[in-house]
Amino acid sequence: MNDNAANVDHAEVAKFEALASRWWDPDSEFWPLHRMNPCRLDYLDQRVGLAGKRVLDVGCGGGLLSEAMARRGAQVTAIDKGEAPLTVARLHQHESGVEVDYRQAAAEELVADEAGSFDLVTCMELLEHVPEPDSTIRACARLLKPGGWASFSTINRTPQAWLFAIVGAEYVTNMLPRGTHQFARFIKPSEMARWARVAGLEPRDVSGMRFNPLARSFRIAPPTDLNYIALFQRGE
Ligand code: SAH
Repeated sequence: MNDNAANVDHAEVAKFEALASRWWDPDSEFWPLHRMNPCRLDYLDQRVGLAGKRVLDVGCGGGLLSEAMARRGAQVTAIDKGEAPLTVARLHQHESGVEVDYRQAAAEELVADEAGSFDLVTCMELLEHVPEPDSTIRACARLLKPGGWASFSTINRTPQAWLFAIVGAEYVTNMLPRGTHQFARFIKPSEMARWARVAGLEPRDVSGMRFNPLARSFRIAPPTDLNYIALFQRGE
């Protein structure tokens, strides 16, 4: 499969390659992912249940969520197109002793071997970095067992998100490198739900992931105008 078919934006992957060595440093550019990890982990565990589940983590990066889900008893396969993030993820698992099956692939590329294999597919903070997010969602759906769950998180395309996630984070506070996010690639929950329905996924929940700047932490809360996480289920 050529990389067009794999739905990869190489400039986006290169950004993550360049920073990958700092992935597990909670004070690095990856700090928001560290801060999101506890709340998205609990979200998945409470609604789907992780123990004993066969889980695929798409766009896993250095493996923050992949390892955390494995610690909760899931059998985790994790894929990414970046080489450096996967190297970091494999080194880290070697140190922590948590077992995750890391592979270099896009979701579209895994379908040939693993269609219908997973109880849960997670795809966090990835859709806003690929050329065709609907293609990623379709591939995730095909990778699920009938009745399996898919969860996607991304950033809404609202004026508030432009102000906080781009102007605030990248230009005012310099908390994220400039160019981390492109506003046009942010995704409205209604668009995500439409793509999911076309892929055979039923919407089960959409919740906001709200950042508290004082505590520097995220929590699940109703407003979805900035970061949000959604849950879908494949028909039986
Ligand atoms: N999901 C992780 C990492 C998010 S960063 C977390 O939330 O903690 C986005 C990751 O997606 C990067 O590691 C990048 O290399 C990867 N990526 C970008 N395009 C991809 C694609 N088409 N397929 C798979 N991974 C991709």
